Amino acid sequence: MKKRNKKTFSMIRITLTIIALIAMSGAGVMAMNTKVNSVDITLSDGYKLTVLTSKTKVADILKDNNILVGEDEKVSPKQNENITDEGKIVISNKSKQEIQVAKVSESGIETTLDSLLQAYDDVVEKIEVKKEEIPFETIKKDISDGAKSTKNKVLQEGENGIKEITYKVKYQNNTEIKRTKISEKIIKKPTDKIVQVRSNVTSRSSDTIRGSDLPSTSIKSTKSESSSGKTKIYKITAYCSCAKCCGKSNGITACGKKAKAGRTIAAPRGFSFGTKLSINGKTYVVEDRGGAIKGNRIDMYVNSHSEALRWGVKYLPVKVID
Ligand SMILES: [Zn+2]
Repeated sequence: MKKRNKKTFSMIRITLTIIALIAMSGAGVMAMNTKVNSVDITLSDGYKLTVLTSKTKVADILKDNNILVGEDEKVSPKQNENITDEGKIVISNKSKQEIQVAKVSESGIETTLDSLLQAYDDVVEKIEVKKEEIPFETIKKDISDGAKSTKNKVLQEGENGIKEITYKVKYQNNTEIKRTKISEKIIKKPTDKIVQVRSNVTSRSSDTIRGSDLPSTSIKSTKSESSSGKTKIYKITAYCSCAKCCGKSNGITACGKKAKAGRTIAAPRGFSFGTKLSINGKTYVVEDRGGAIKGNRIDMYVNSHSEALRWGVKYLPVKVID
């Protein structure tokens, strides 16, 4: 009898416990072996609440209670961790540095707090003076009326000038972040190079022959083109004797001669073989033709394919000599 009483009592206790669990969870069904914990959650604004949960993972508990963690907030323990026996979750605001660390680590750059603090270093402004060369200009003195035998002659050697440029440079962490030109002063004027030729074309000494593909020369020489009447801007490309350029590689030109760099050019049919053309102050001879060489196009023979590629495309004034 005594034993039976004890058994009934424990049955009642279990039943009550089950009812209590169902009530606490608010859910209709709950497995017998699920453990329910009481968890204190502190929000970032200091508000505290206590929830009952069967979950152990922080993210699950927060989700069940519709608590969203902002980008600028952090959770302890971390969302992917389980709650400790203490049963506490604390959401707090991240410090500025932590936000910065998060942003930087998102961008894939490993960083330390020290380097971040350094990034907040003051910006230092410095005045810097630099000397730069001013390229001289080449003036071509037109002597087309002179004797035919007159050869190109340098009347005056050119010399680059020097200018002094003052910059205001902003540095942060010894790294230049901004450069502003304040003033420019010419220390030494460039000396023009004067060449006696049979056309008057003025062009910059730099990048006229090699380098730039921009038709800068053609723009500058528009005036001389109209004044001389015989100078025309041509699109000038370069080729070599290779199969890529010619489809054959014996280096024999359309007129039957052996092509020579610095002399041979392919020009449209309007120019008969043997016609001498002045390009950029140099004399070339029309000795070749090309399928694509029509209209305002000239192909210049060079020694190698790499040289042809380096030449690229240039727009230069071309003058018929004879
Ligand atoms: Zn080639």
